[in-house]
Amino acid sequence: MPSARYFTVPVLSFVLTIVALTACADREDEVRSRIEKGVNQIMIVDTHEHLGPEKLRTERVMSLFTHLHYALSDMWADGLGRRMADSVFNASGASLADKWNTIAPYWNNTRNTAYNKVLTEAFSDLYGIDDVTEDTYEELSNRIQQANKPGWYHTVLKEKAGIELSITDTGLRGTGMNRDMFRAVLRLDEFLLMWDSFGDVEKKWGVSVQTLADWEYALEVAMDSLVALGFVGVKSGIAYNRTLRFEDFPRERVEQMFDRLRAEPELVNSQSWQQKKPVQDWMFDRIAKGCAKRDLAFQIHTGFFYDINRDVTQANPTNLTPLVMRNPGTRFVLMHCGYPYGRDLLAMAKNLPNVVTDMCWIYVISPSFAYEYLNEAIETLPADKVLGFGGDYGIPEGSYGHAKLCRRIVSRVLADKVLSGYWGEAEALAYARSILRDAPAKVFKLDLEN
Ligand SMILES: [Zn+2]
Repeated sequence: MPSARYFTVPVLSFVLTIVALTACADREDEVRSRIEKGVNQIMIVDTHEHLGPEKLRTERVMSLFTHLHYALSDMWADGLGRRMADSVFNASGASLADKWNTIAPYWNNTRNTAYNKVLTEAFSDLYGIDDVTEDTYEELSNRIQQANKPGWYHTVLKEKAGIELSITDTGLRGTGMNRDMFRAVLRLDEFLLMWDSFGDVEKKWGVSVQTLADWEYALEVAMDSLVALGFVGVKSGIAYNRTLRFEDFPRERVEQMFDRLRAEPELVNSQSWQQKKPVQDWMFDRIAKGCAKRDLAFQIHTGFFYDINRDVTQANPTNLTPLVMRNPGTRFVLMHCGYPYGRDLLAMAKNLPNVVTDMCWIYVISPSFAYEYLNEAIETLPADKVLGFGGDYGIPEGSYGHAKLCRRIVSRVLADKVLSGYWGEAEALAYARSILRDAPAKVFKLDLEN
């Protein structure tokens, strides 16, 4: 029989290894929990929502089927007919059961996506219904409607999600938002698309339009008005309609084309964007210059689309580089991490002083992508060039779920970087405060109380 001494060295080193590993795991847990706590305490400045006045929501009957938002996009991509589903959702005689039966197979196929997970988690936290199934959709819908009262925005956004201020994109209605919780941006894409020809713009901004100079003047009036109305920036969703590559056409060519469109307004709708490109490119450049003149942020959709059947390559943010370089005085806020062109956008923002990157919408598109993006952004970009969160929802429940997911991912990235020795905890938390609060406040020139 071997003596006890025979085991001493291997046993001792085994015990020491276990002790060391336990200490390590303890330290790791402590770091993670301190970072999480610090990130959870930050009152977020949310760069992008589509929330409209609360009054419009409380006037309507709400249910699960008014709350699907992005989860519905995944169901369209899975084959659910968009028009058909909308017609069932909006039919006055349709029951909740009719609506559930319309989406049930698609809901099950898309349970795994982050759009679905975030929504389900928000319903669980806010309405106490842990899963959305055939057995729960009715009760969940009842609870959503019971909560649909004035003050719900405040409860969900401010108290539960810890969002101090959201910048919303909801058209001219943005002026009517509660200033305690919201600021707004305004779209001016109508100056490119001209879809209701010219009458709409003439009426809206009180300018008569015959020539390109009039059209440019109308834009100036619109931009002065939006400043006077308290908007904090201009938003463009033009990537949904055409490429983000804007050229510098000679004015004579733009003028010729404008005169033709003005003389034959039906061409506005029958011509492709490729045909109207000189006028569109010219006006987009004027918007960028107008933002510089008024010190307004210019927030531009880049990358992935919320709906289906579009060409994502047209929205690659690198298409914007010539425009950005022609307008060094404009603050370009490029949205959504340019998904899936995230690295392209990081390289742009690292190189171009007038580009900041806005991580709105990204955590719910893909939490893993968001993790990697932020991880690289820490290594590549100055802290004040990263805007860390925008919910990008039309329902506060979505913004809540998204903010919760964002805090989780941000905490994980920061803690992993502490544990790998990249930086210390204090520096990590200062960075979190910058991207979630200070940088958005600086870019949109918001006055925060502290
Ligand atoms: Zn949006």
